[in-house]
Amino acid sequence: MNLEAHLAPYAAFSSASPGRRFPESMPSSRTEFQRDRDRIIHSTAFRRLEYKTQVFVNHEGDLFRTRLTHSIEVAQIARSIARNLRLNEDLVEAISLAHDLGHTPFGHAGQDALNACMKDYGGFEHNLQSLRVVDELEERYGAFDGLNLTFETREGILKHCSLKNAKKLGDVGRRFIDKKQPTLEAQLANLADEIAYNNHDIDDGLRSGLLTTTQLDDIDFYARHRKEVEASFPGISGRRAIHETIRRMINALVIDLIDTSRSRIQDAKVKTVDDVRNSAALIAFSDDMNTEAALLKRFLRDNLYLHYQVNRMTSKARRIVRELFEAFMEEPRLLPPDYQVTQGNEQERLQWQARKVADYIAGMTDRYAMREHRRLFQVDEI
Ligand code: MG
Repeated sequence: MNLEAHLAPYAAFSSASPGRRFPESMPSSRTEFQRDRDRIIHSTAFRRLEYKTQVFVNHEGDLFRTRLTHSIEVAQIARSIARNLRLNEDLVEAISLAHDLGHTPFGHAGQDALNACMKDYGGFEHNLQSLRVVDELEERYGAFDGLNLTFETREGILKHCSLKNAKKLGDVGRRFIDKKQPTLEAQLANLADEIAYNNHDIDDGLRSGLLTTTQLDDIDFYARHRKEVEASFPGISGRRAIHETIRRMINALVIDLIDTSRSRIQDAKVKTVDDVRNSAALIAFSDDMNTEAALLKRFLRDNLYLHYQVNRMTSKARRIVRELFEAFMEEPRLLPPDYQVTQGNEQERLQWQARKVADYIAGMTDRYAMREHRRLFQVDEI
């Protein structure tokens, strides 16, 4: 049975995939991309996302987004759009669910701190780490390290990459060197990520009390949809009004993305996934929507991500990550044996040790990192 017969000719077909790094027999009841999705859901790194921060640290409240719920929201948005454009929903879902697997604890604060620690050892990029998780770090199969995902899923996970790293990566790094586009599914997962976090950060920001609806009214995109809600439901207020507004904002972004992308795909006259790779980016918002989204992003940065109460947590997070890194590098014997590097000359050993420490720290959940920090730095904690 052809499970991909309904797709547009420019979609990514699993039957045409360059395949996996280690050849495996074909799955009998699923496509290769469904198999990727299933492997991701069963991975350890995926379960860790439940206790990793998006903006708010996990213990700050039970209802804030975590990286797990964020990834599920991204997958949901991306799949709806994919179905409209007749793209491969299974691929888009696999990429969406895996896109944050390499994130450190404490969100961007953790990533920046780890990147600074790794300055002399090749740096730390969370996209690259997500790829490292699925290519190397997961331990589930007898025949290979990692999850052995298809090329398309791996390529979609690697959303950005420096040229220097691209050159070391082989096949998945190629497009950054040749300046080519990934599949439409990868382009879509990337923008669905933006739709998800811009909107849920508003919701979480309001829930936390760090943002107010009055402040948000400065953003025309929000104010317009709020007025629409009030016209439809006179007297509506509180959480219900907020959710109705955000629902409309997500819908407006989704519709705009579908319409704009559909006409760009038509204008570019792409017929195959190869045409897609050689074309400009085709999954895109309209110019007007890009302007609105940029205002929204700036608002969130100035009023939420840089809010002094968020800064207090990010400052603590940076310190935790930095101090853990320094302690482990100074005394690798504090690490679990699997993470201690003893081979190679001093130079090689140090490089490898730093990478292993980065893997160890990046794999921590927020609360594990805090507990580990207490264990190492407080004498009465074991
Ligand atoms: Mg994300």
